[in-house]
Amino acid sequence: MPELPEVEALAADLRERAAGRVIDRADVAEISVLKTYDPPLTALRGQAIAGASRYGKFLDLVTDGQLDGQLHLIVHLARAGWLRWRDSLPEQPPRPGKGPLAFRLRFTDGSGFDLTEAGSRKRLAVYLVADPAAVPGIASLGPDPLDPAFTPAALGAILAGRRMQIKGVLRDQSVIAGIGNAYSDEVLHAAKMSPFRLAASLTPDEVAELHAVIVSTLREAAGRSAGLAASDLKAEKKAGLRVHGRAGQPCPVCGDTVREVSFADSALQYCPTCQTGGKPLADRRMSRLLK
Ligand SMILES: [Zn+2]
Repeated sequence: MPELPEVEALAADLRERAAGRVIDRADVAEISVLKTYDPPLTALRGQAIAGASRYGKFLDLVTDGQLDGQLHLIVHLARAGWLRWRDSLPEQPPRPGKGPLAFRLRFTDGSGFDLTEAGSRKRLAVYLVADPAAVPGIASLGPDPLDPAFTPAALGAILAGRRMQIKGVLRDQSVIAGIGNAYSDEVLHAAKMSPFRLAASLTPDEVAELHAVIVSTLREAAGRSAGLAASDLKAEKKAGLRVHGRAGQPCPVCGDTVREVSFADSALQYCPTCQTGGKPLADRRMSRLLK
């Protein structure tokens, strides 16, 4: 799933490619993706794109507002969604319910992009709104970790009194915006911290270290992704990860074997030597299987 660094790069890529282009049509190929109905997608016709930006993991394409007021086409790619730029799209709208295509935006010069979603669970979401804050997931976002206002003190205030595991806190979009399952694994590995540490138990020094690592991990990933086309971002993200998705492989820091804890819907990866004093964490699924 694309997280802050990849969505940041997608926004930059779209600013390059789409700004100034005029929308011919926007079409839904998978009915469940469109979460708003007023204004309708036909309101985009004839509008020019002014820019693209990001709120957490939400991508925002904004029109220049010359025809009407500004409109924001907001996309959340969810776990299996992706954006693919196309230099030439057919004039006819896509036929619904065929393959992974969920949404298509076509410009008057024939270029545009497709939003696709693999798998049967459809979570990709598209919103057309006059104000991004009208999207519930944006209205409830916590501070952005690349915003200068996200200081060690701000992180300390977020964690204080929170009796939750730090892994879950980092992933909670209403607490900090833009970090998902992959970068929370990477941040905790770089901070040499157990994913199961209680957020409220961190000392001021640990908060400062965690803050530094959050910012550097996301900045480095954003730097690696910057300038890449949408089609190259997935491979770049994967190549840059040290523990996430690497169970069974050696930790690049200490050489210990990266381990995994599985949950119903996801899994986390960590290095025991770097993060948990060499002790493997209990994996309920594994112990159930072994009984
Ligand atoms: Zn290690």
